[in-house]
Amino acid sequence: LEGRVGEPRPKYVHTSEKGLWGQPTVLNNVETFANVPLIINQGAERFRSIGTERSKGTKIFSLVGKVNNTGLVEVPMGMSLADIIYKIGGGISGKKGLKGVQTGGPSGGIIPAQSLDTPVDFDELARLGSMMGSGSIIVIDEDTCAVDLARYFVDFLCSESCGKCLPCREGLKRMREILDAIKSGQGKKSDIQTLQDIAELMKEASLCALGRTAVNPVLSTIRHFREEYDAHIEERRCPALSCKSLVKYSIDPEICIACDLCQENCPQGAIYKSGEGFQVIDQSKCIRCGICFEICPKKVRAIVKESPGRA
Ligand code: SF4
Ligand code: SF4
Ligand code: SF4
Repeated sequence: LEGRVGEPRPKYVHTSEKGLWGQPTVLNNVETFANVPLIINQGAERFRSIGTERSKGTKIFSLVGKVNNTGLVEVPMGMSLADIIYKIGGGISGKKGLKGVQTGGPSGGIIPAQSLDTPVDFDELARLGSMMGSGSIIVIDEDTCAVDLARYFVDFLCSESCGKCLPCREGLKRMREILDAIKSGQGKKSDIQTLQDIAELMKEASLCALGRTAVNPVLSTIRHFREEYDAHIEERRCPALSCKSLVKYSIDPEICIACDLCQENCPQGAIYKSGEGFQVIDQSKCIRCGICFEICPKKVRAIVKESPGRA
C-alpha cells in the first residue's frame, strides 16, 4: 500500500518499496523473528559481537547442490564460502572439481571458485554480483554449463514474474530466447551485449525486486564465465559437455568389448554393429540422451562424449 486511502499518490516511487500506510512494515520472516528473543535475553551487544562490521549475528543457509553434506547450516556472518563448503559441507560430491556457488536463490548471482575465500556477508556477496536473498548456497561442479545454468534460473523466474510491468515480463522472456539460441549453437556475437542491455533496463525500470534482481544469474555468468559464452557462440562448443545440441557421442572401437549393452538400451535404435563386429552410432538417429554413455561398463568406458565444435 502507498499512502493512506484518498491521499494523492507521489510520483516516481516504486509502490513495492513502501510498507503499510507508507510506514516501515515488519518483514514476516521466521529467521528474523528467531533472533528477537536472543537479543532481548542476551543483549544487543552479544548479538553485535558476532559477524562482520556491517552484517551482524548469524545466518542460516540452505546448503545444497553438488556437496557431500547438504542441509541447513547456521554460521556466523563473515565465514568464508570455502569453510562452509569444505569444513561443513564435506567438499564436492562425486570427486568433481568445484566451478562455483550460487547464493541467494534463483535471483542470486554465480560466484566462481576463485572467490571462495570471500567472507559471506551482505556487502561482499553484492560486490561479487550476488546477494544474500533467500539464504541458499547451491554448490556447482565442473560438469555444469554456465549458459545452461543462467537459462535454468531465467526460465524459473519467467514463471515467477507476475507480469505487471513490462521490463520484467518481456525482458525475462527475451533473455530466455537468447540463452536458448546460444545453448543450441545458434547464438550471435551481439547476443551478449543484448543480454547486458536488457539486464540494465530491467535493473532500472522493473517495479519490484524480483525484476531488478532476476538479471543476476545472467550478468554474473557473463562476468565470471565469459569464455563459456564465447565458446558456445563462436565455436558452437559447450566446454562442460552439458548442452545437448552441442554434444556428440561415438564409440571407440579400440576399447569397446562388444557387450551390446548400449545397442540394447538405445531408445532410438541408433547403435548398430559394423562389419568388423564393433558398435557404431548413427549420428542422424542419435538424440544425445546419454543413455549409452551411462550404461557402458565403467571399467570399459568405450563411449566417447565430446563437444567437437564448428566443423
Ligand atoms: S518486476 Fe516482475 S514480479 Fe515485480 S511487478 Fe514487475 S513483472 Fe511483477
Ligand atoms: S546418446 Fe542416446 S540416442 Fe544417442 S546413441 Fe546413445 S543411447 Fe542412442
Ligand atoms: S556398452 Fe560400451 S563396451 Fe558395450 S558394446 Fe557399447 S560401447 Fe562397447
